[in-house]
Amino acid sequence: MDRRTFLRSSLMSAAAVTLAPLGISWQKRREFKPGKLNLSFAPHELQLRHAFNLAKSSRTVTPDVLVKIEFDGLTGYGEASMPPYLGENEKSVCNFLSQLDLSQFSDPFHIAEIHRYMDTVATGNQAAKCAVDIALHDIAGKITVQPWHRMWGLNAADAPCTSFTIGIDTPEVVREKVAEASPYKVLKVKMGLDRDKETVEIIREMTDVPICVDVNQGWSSREEALEMCHWLAARNCLFVEQPFDKTDVDNTAWLREKSPLPIIADEAVQGVNDVRRMADIYDGINIKLMKCGGMHEAHEMAVVAKALGLKVMLGCMTETSCGVTAAAQLAPMADWADLDGNLLISNDPFDGVKIVDGKVTVPSDRPGIGVVEV
Ligand code: MG
Repeated sequence: MDRRTFLRSSLMSAAAVTLAPLGISWQKRREFKPGKLNLSFAPHELQLRHAFNLAKSSRTVTPDVLVKIEFDGLTGYGEASMPPYLGENEKSVCNFLSQLDLSQFSDPFHIAEIHRYMDTVATGNQAAKCAVDIALHDIAGKITVQPWHRMWGLNAADAPCTSFTIGIDTPEVVREKVAEASPYKVLKVKMGLDRDKETVEIIREMTDVPICVDVNQGWSSREEALEMCHWLAARNCLFVEQPFDKTDVDNTAWLREKSPLPIIADEAVQGVNDVRRMADIYDGINIKLMKCGGMHEAHEMAVVAKALGLKVMLGCMTETSCGVTAAAQLAPMADWADLDGNLLISNDPFDGVKIVDGKVTVPSDRPGIGVVEV
């Protein structure tokens, strides 16, 4: 065997070993060739299984836009979900996406550069940018034939259990939802109305699994909030998310100082700059792809939060399996996961994450974000 043949066969063996756990042979690795990125998109309104009741709103549908980016025979899938509080809608997302010219880029790995370009087209529009970001990650992963948790050097087995959300509702519906949530090892309860204690008591009659509490900015009295934190701590609650208005720094810092439970920022933290700004006010942050603009920023947020000693929670909106599976690739970096958004809708066009032993588990044999169309 000459030196050249030897080197070639060694490289082939190395590739086969690297990809063996994925059940993918080295022959399927793609040669990367620069090409054109072609973007297309279509609205897909999400139908919710139950009315979604929060402290300040209620709804039965969520506007959503599905994105595809074609590159060298590959399709990358992305999604923009627009819960009303983020200020985007189907029209704004379609308008933003129609202004993009991705054909000027020849390399889908240049995700940071494409984000800089999108920021020159318009500021904000985080969900719309997120859709493009997820689709680019999907293509990059498909070119390398690796799922993104591996690209980030993460072990999927480190993902935490995910919570299942019990919204604000009548006692009958709360009981129904708790029964539905039996595969989950953590429950998340939405709070902010008069029935909060009643809801927790109903859950405690049925199960002793830990509870996470999301107030969605619904509390206003610091004394009542502190009393509630003590009451919840005595009932196996893990943390309290966004107790006060996102701008109410004084009450939040006061509560964090005295609360027996960690206080987590959601609405108060959008991107990586907010993580630094809020590090002294909260104990942790809730990262969501739709509010931060996608997987690129979400990964940076997780890295910075961990460096600052903050807890990391990974959440989602009501989304299809596209957005939730993309987020789940980052789950091994999270202390807590709240990735049930795809289970709250009845018209999911994708197959992706599954709940295995309480954990959101990404398909190990699928590259990119890990979804296929169904
Ligand atoms: Mg929240």
